[in-house]
Amino acid sequence: MHELGIVFHVIKRLENLAAEQNLQQIQSVTLELGEVSGVVPEFLEDGWKWAVKKSPIMENAALKIETLPAVSFCNVCGKTYGTVENGKTCPHCKSEDTVLQTGNEMNIKEIEAC
Ligand SMILES: [Zn+2]
Repeated sequence: MHELGIVFHVIKRLENLAAEQNLQQIQSVTLELGEVSGVVPEFLEDGWKWAVKKSPIMENAALKIETLPAVSFCNVCGKTYGTVENGKTCPHCKSEDTVLQTGNEMNIKEIEAC
């Protein structure tokens, strides 16, 4: 399961950060998730609830997920458009010479700790 790997990766990063900054408890974590990243937020939340129990510093940490919209750029007409609605085809000029600009990322945006 892809999502569980991400959960472990995020927790590891936060544990390292907590050690560096001498944090006692992490209260919440905000993740930015690209709309076409292929990650299912529900699975991420389930994995999170299970995985944080194993980490004393994280056991009460809430997971907040913010979705980043997917945007593609057209190499032919230079415009951008919503990837989810239009896929690989530019709605302005019908070209398929397009690249995904945002929407495939997964970032740790914010952490609340004490
Ligand atoms: Zn175009």
